[in-house]
Amino acid sequence: MSNESKYTTVFDLIIVGGGMVGAALARALHPLSLKIAVIENTSPQVIIQDKRAIVLSYGSSVILQALGLWSHLKSHTVPIRHLQLSDAGQFGMANLSARDEKVDALGYVIEGGVLLGILQQSLAALSDVAYYRPANVVGMTPCEEGWQLDVVQNQQQRLRARCVVAADGTHSTIRKLQQQIFFHHQNPEAP
Ligand SMILES: Cc1cc2nc3c(=O)[nH]c(=O)nc-3n(C[C@H](O)[C@H](O)[C@H](O)COP(=O)(O)OP(=O)(O)OC[C@H]3O[C@@H](n4cnc5c(N)ncnc54)[C@H](O)[C@@H]3O)c2cc1C
Repeated sequence: MSNESKYTTVFDLIIVGGGMVGAALARALHPLSLKIAVIENTSPQVIIQDKRAIVLSYGSSVILQALGLWSHLKSHTVPIRHLQLSDAGQFGMANLSARDEKVDALGYVIEGGVLLGILQQSLAALSDVAYYRPANVVGMTPCEEGWQLDVVQNQQQRLRARCVVAADGTHSTIRKLQQQIFFHHQNPEAP
C-alpha cells in the first residue's frame, strides 16, 4: 500500500458543512446508498445557542416530513395560520389564510438551535454516513477521482470524492479554495 492510499478515503460525495443545508442534504441522499461524508467544524458537545426565530415555509415542512423529521420538530413549532401583507403608507393589502389554502399552516416558526440540533442528531444516527466532527477543511485539489480535500481532525487526512458540496455557509472555505484553484488554472505562472 502506498503512503498516499494509506491515508486517503474515497467517497461518492463529500458535504462540507453540517448546518441546516448540509445535514438536510445528507439525510435526503442517504437512501441512495451513496458513500457520503459530512465534515463539520463545530464540536458535538457545544450546545447550540441559536435563539433566532426561523420561519419554515410550508414547502420546507413537506421536505422535513419526507426526511422523517417532522414528528420530532412539530411540537417545537408555532404554526402561521394567517398572513397579512401590506406596504406601509400604501393603500391595499392581501390576506392569506391556511384554511383557504386547505393546509394546516402557511408556515411554521421554530427556534434555530432546536431545528439544527434535531437535524444534526438525525445525521449522527446515520451509521453509514461518515461524520467528521469537529473537523476542518484546509485544502482542496483536483485529483483522479474528482477532488481531494485535506481535512484536519486530530491529525491531517485526505478524503477524495467525485463530487463535493459546499454547504459551509456565507464565509465558505470551499468557495475560497475553488477561487484559488481557478485562479492558478487561468494564471499558471502566478506564485
Ligand atoms: C438573523 C437571521 C435570520 C434568519 N431567518 C431565517 C428564517 O426565518 N428562515 C430561513 O429559512 N432562513 C433564515 N435565515 C437564514 C438561515 O440561517 C440560513 O439560510 C441557513 O443557516 C443557511 O444554512 P447553511 O447550512 O447553508 O449555512 P450555515 O447555517 O452557516 O451552516 C454552515 C455550517 O458549515 C460549518 N463550516 C463552516 N466552515 C467549515 C469548514 N471549513 N469545515 C467544516 N465545516 C464548516 C459551520 O460550522 C456550520 O455548521 C436567517 C439568517 C439570519 C442571519
